[in-house]
Amino acid sequence: MHKILMGAAATAALMMAGAAAAQAPAPAPAPPAVVPVVVTQVKPGLYVLSENGGNTTLRVGKDALLVVDTKNPGPAVHAELIKAIRSVSALPVKEVVVTHHHADHSGGIGDFEADGATVTTNVGLPAQLDKGYTAAGGFKPAKPTKTYDKTTEVKINGATARLLHFDPGHTGGDTLVYFPDLKVVSGGDEIVAVTPNIDFVYGGSLVGLLDSLNQVAKLDFDTVVPGHGAITLTRAQFEEYRKKIDTVVARGRASIKGGTTKEAFLASIKTDDLGWNLMTPAWNAPARLDVLYAELSK
Ligand SMILES: [Zn+2]
Repeated sequence: MHKILMGAAATAALMMAGAAAAQAPAPAPAPPAVVPVVVTQVKPGLYVLSENGGNTTLRVGKDALLVVDTKNPGPAVHAELIKAIRSVSALPVKEVVVTHHHADHSGGIGDFEADGATVTTNVGLPAQLDKGYTAAGGFKPAKPTKTYDKTTEVKINGATARLLHFDPGHTGGDTLVYFPDLKVVSGGDEIVAVTPNIDFVYGGSLVGLLDSLNQVAKLDFDTVVPGHGAITLTRAQFEEYRKKIDTVVARGRASIKGGTTKEAFLASIKTDDLGWNLMTPAWNAPARLDVLYAELSK
């Protein structure tokens, strides 16, 4: 800490020993604690690695591995993730897909690139980073190696992942990852098992999310890996989630039509029957609420 003190302040601080700590600039917030990653096999050759941020999906090919989402930033988190991957397979990680720019999913982009992997994201991910996104402690995710616009395929020998971006949803740069042979969708934070949230400041859209989920529903799948809150969801649980998003959109539009002001808006949307709480900063932060109210007013 003394390295960042200058001149007289440094001298005084050194003389005052312990008391100097109180006068020094506040240190960066401590990184979140690193806990052991939990490895769950979902299908033959497909695993979910949970903890330390959003869920990671691991797909095992014949001679290489494909990873979806890279967890919180920091060398300790990356080392723990690699340890978990190595508990499944010794093959090299060749392909990485990151579902959106939030640091609990994008934290390891730079680490995997340094390890020699190709990182692919939607073109909207670096676009959100260019808006000035920084996570806690000032962390900025690294840029991906490759981007795509609407859809692309990422292949390893023996496995294909179809990357899909239907609409702005949770953010302006979301990717859903579809494994057609296993009938699994990795949903990132477009599909979660907690109260969802939309990053309206970084390109997200509740109406877009609903449309995106409606497009997902046309795919042939039986299992979803959500971004948070559970290891997997069944098809029926996905349909229940999609219906809840549809309900929030419909209730929100009806409320605005009925004359509800922006200030009273979130409280006017009934969500107790959905098991969701919208009265949190994820929804009522003014910069987010402004965009939500405007889009549901149309
Ligand atoms: Zn997110």
